[in-house]
Formats: sequence, structure tokens, C-alpha cells
Amino acid sequence: MDYAIIADAYGKIEATTKRLEMTDILVDLLKNTSKDVVAKIIYLTQGKLYPDFMGIEIGIAEKLAIKALIRASGRKESEILADLQKTGDLGLATEIQLAKKKQSTFFSKVLTVEHVYESLDKMAKTTGSGAVDTKTAVLAGLLSDASPKEAKYLIRTVTGNLRLGIADMTALEALAIAYGGNKDARGSIERAYNICSDLGRVADILVREGLELVKNMHIMVFEPIRPMLAERLPSPEEILEKFNGKCLAEYKYDGERIQVHKQANIVNLYSRRLENISSQYPDVIELIKKQVNAREAIFEAECVAVDIETGDMRPFQELMHRRRKYGIENAIEKYPISLFAFDLLFVNGKDLTREPLTNRRAALEETLNKNVQLQIATQKTVNTVKELEDFFEQAIGEGCEGLMCKSITKDSVYQAGNRGWLWIKYKRDYKSEMTDTCDLVVVGAFHGRGKRAGAYGALLLASYNPEKDMFETTTKCGTGFTEKDIADLHKMLQSYVIVRRHTRVLSMMEADVWFEPVVVLEVLGAEVTLSPIHTCSMDAIRKSSGFAIRFPRFTGKYRTDKSPQDATNSKEIVAMYQSQLKQITVK
Ligand code: AMP
Repeated sequence: MDYAIIADAYGKIEATTKRLEMTDILVDLLKNTSKDVVAKIIYLTQGKLYPDFMGIEIGIAEKLAIKALIRASGRKESEILADLQKTGDLGLATEIQLAKKKQSTFFSKVLTVEHVYESLDKMAKTTGSGAVDTKTAVLAGLLSDASPKEAKYLIRTVTGNLRLGIADMTALEALAIAYGGNKDARGSIERAYNICSDLGRVADILVREGLELVKNMHIMVFEPIRPMLAERLPSPEEILEKFNGKCLAEYKYDGERIQVHKQANIVNLYSRRLENISSQYPDVIELIKKQVNAREAIFEAECVAVDIETGDMRPFQELMHRRRKYGIENAIEKYPISLFAFDLLFVNGKDLTREPLTNRRAALEETLNKNVQLQIATQKTVNTVKELEDFFEQAIGEGCEGLMCKSITKDSVYQAGNRGWLWIKYKRDYKSEMTDTCDLVVVGAFHGRGKRAGAYGALLLASYNPEKDMFETTTKCGTGFTEKDIADLHKMLQSYVIVRRHTRVLSMMEADVWFEPVVVLEVLGAEVTLSPIHTCSMDAIRKSSGFAIRFPRFTGKYRTDKSPQDATNSKEIVAMYQSQLKQITVK
């Protein structure tokens, strides 16, 4: 099939902004296509060669494309750059340059879609030394045979700038009309796409084998399932109303969504955007191999950065250090993670996506061998606004973003690739930085693990309440300490160890070790939040809620100049909370 037919269709698509017209043009193109190239055309119109999860990209740098263009057109770099500057688009610059050349030369070779696809594929897969030369030569070859218009789209395709604006849904609709009988076939085609994330494969099966076989497509390990998405509501009242008064509330962890695929001893991990991210998480791969009971499984989890010594969750930003090609081993050690699994979609050949959530959840419990690194999302069935609010605060207090509230009716299927009201997220609509440090009193400690074994992993810190003359807990802090701090503090605190909680300490948490409230440390946190587990200013603005400092970090300052009564007092913490709220309303 001639590439010119595609280039023509691209030209028409570019000229319209109407989705219906775009669909019609695509339908025409697909109908004029021989069966064995439909899949290739589907990929090409989206500027791809394969589905995203294969991770094969054409990705030619602009510089290399210009080099190829010079070779193919015989024109000077300065002329090309001048046109590029004028138009801001290398595709247009290419068209102009080749048009000038074609006036004087005549080429008879016709570009076919098959040849273009193979050439692009070769470029995408060439690596190692000499790759640049090979890619330039292949691209120059294509450009020499191309008409100016074809060359425009070729250049845009290889540099990742095709951007025809054909959304998946438009392509699905065009396929339904062209090969599924009519628009009504879209639902089945979409379902097939949602479970395999490969539009080309669905198209191929549709044109070769028909709609019935598309309907029979099933989930396969190593083909990522398009993720189910959540709606959002601002208040617990509205959420409960939507669920007719009852739902399953789950911690909404603040990390990266990972879809885990396992078959025998092979494990692949896919991101929310369905890219294969296995190479970033060799530790997760090992974990899955050891802790998953099933031969085959597909499940979803949130991957969260944690403090290995305390088990506490760390802010999302820390996970970003894992996004790298080199130095992974080092990053694994520096930024350890835990997985919090929340859904099971497939197990040992069985598709669970059409089962209600409670069944999927029960199967998830059976499939995973939980440990510190592989956990299942904390959850609770809630019937009242108060329960939902308390659980929300508990989640925030433990470092989560809020809650995911989920339907537990018999219709609570996994809606692959869709956003719906079966899941509703409840996040805070504010977030602000804590700008000031606090000076807090060490009242207790928790035993350390890993490198901190034998010392304290985290300290329980309190603010001072002068009215009650009590120390009220505000946070558990295990971050910001150097190895020397850990050793010094262990030694320093020995003289203050007492057998049970000090009578002037108000705590709902059980520490492993209690101290006389003497040592004062300076701490900076991310923000002040309401908390059902910390006693600081309990009930001051909400019943059964105290205040906590989220993501606390020791600044390195021992406030030996301060007596415990000089520590930040509990009212000041409330004031910090209120000033944060003000900052938000001002914004
Ligand atoms: P958002 O990104 O704010 O739209 O929220 C949806 C994201 O929350 C999902 O894509 C997951 O990455 C994440 N998440 C965290 N915890 C859960 C959970 N328990 N259930 C579902 N999604 C969760």
C-alpha cells in the first residue's frame, strides 16, 4: 500500500478540528487499507510502531533528522535551519526544502507503508556503536524516495511530533464503523482494548477474524490492563450518599501505581501510563517472586517510599529518585519502598475483573504472602460520616494522601480503562508547607530495625500544654538523624529511661521505651494535620482529633538551651494549622 494514501489522510485530518470529520477520514483510510497493514496504520497514526508497553520508540533527535535531510536533499544546513526558524516545525521545513529539490530531480521509486514501517522499525531497534550512522542512512533513504508531503509526515513521525490528535476513542470508533458493522460495535472493541492496551492487535483481530473473536479476547499476562480510575467528591457526606450509606474506605497511598504481572518466575511491572518500568524496581521483582502464591497473577499496588528503620511512609518525591537508568542499586538502598496492593485482576487463568470488589479482595488476601514490604491496603467498611472522617485523618496521619472509597455492591466490577463512580477519591483540597520549625520534647522511642538495630529507630515527640502542664504527643520522627545522632541520642537518652509512660505525658501511642521529658529537639515538618492518634490540643477544633506534624525531620539542632517547658506549646501548633488554612483560602 502506498504511503501517499496515508500522507493524504494525514493532510485532511490536520485540516479539520471536528472529531466527527476526523473519524470519517480515518474510516475511509481504514477501508482503503489491505488487511495485513491495518494494525501498522493504527500505530502509525498515533505516531507509534508498537503499543506503549513494549517500550520501543522511534525517538530520533532533531539534529540527526536534519543530518539525514541534508543528505537526502543536498541542501545546505543553513537553509534548512532558516526554514526551521521561520516555521518552527521541522516537518514544514522539510517539505519546503524537498519541494525545491524535486523541481530539479525526478524520482520514480514509490514509498510503501510496509517499507516505511520496516525502516522506522529498524531505526527504533538499532542500538550500540554506529547506531547514529545507521539511523541517519535509513532516514535519508526514506526521505530521498519521499514526496515533499510524505517527507513532512515522516519527519514528524520520527521526531515524535506527528500529533494528529487522534485519541484512542476516535480510533476505536473508526474501527467499529469500518470493520465492526457500525458504531454499536465500539463497546466490544473498547473492552478488548481496555484489557490488552494494544489497539493494533485489536484492529488486526477485528479485520482478519471478525467482531466475535474480538469479543472473545481475554486478559493475558504481560499485556497490561488499562487502569480503572476514580471520580472525586469533596465531602464525606456526598461520598456516603453516592454509595447509599455504605462503602469500603481504603488508604490512598501517595506513591506510584504499579500493575504487577507474574507468570512462573517472570515478573513485569507497568506504570499507570502502561510503560514497562520493571528495570526501575529490581527489588520489587524479587519481592513478587518470593511473596506471590500464584503461578499467574495480575494485581495492582501503590509503591511507596518508606523509611526502612521505622517503616514510616515517606513523601512521594523520594520515589522520584528511582526514575533513573543508572545507579539503581544505590537508589534501592537509599530509597527503599513498600508495596500496598489494592486489587487483584487475574489469577491462574481466571479473569476477576467482572467480579465484585469483595471477591477480588478476598482472592488478593489469598494470593499474597504479606510481609513488611508487601502489604495490602488498609481498609475499613464505613457506614457513617464520622467513621469516614476519622479514618481519613488516620490515613493522613500515617502519611497517606486521603482515602479511596469503593463500592461494595454486587456490581462493583473492575472498570478497566474507565473513570466511574464505583471508586471515589477523598483527598484534602489543601496542602501547604510548614515554614517554621518546632522544638519538641522526646517522650518515648521505638526500637530500630536494619542499620538502626540496637538503637532507636524513631522518637515520639511532644509539645507542651501549659494549661494542663502536660506533654502532648505530636509526631513520630525517624528522619534527619545522622548515624552519629543515632548513637549520641541513644547514649544521651539512657539516663532518662523510665519503666512506664511519664505521668506528665499524654499519649495514645504505646512507645517501646519511655523517657522523662527532658531532651528538646528542633524539627521541621511538611505541615500540621488533624490526627486521631496524637494528643496535642485534642478536641480543640474537632472532637476526638488532636494535631500532628506530618513528615517530620530532625534539623540537627539539639535545643539544650531550652527546658522542656520552653518547647513549642500545643496552642502554637493549632495556630500553625490555622495559618496554613488561611494561606490556602488566600490562594
Ligand atoms: P489520583 O491520581 O489522585 O487520580 O488518584 C488515583 C490514584 O491513587 C491511583 O491511580 C493509584 O495510583 C492511587 N491509589 C493509592 N491508593 C489506592 C487505593 N487504595 N486504591 C486505588 N488507588 C489507589
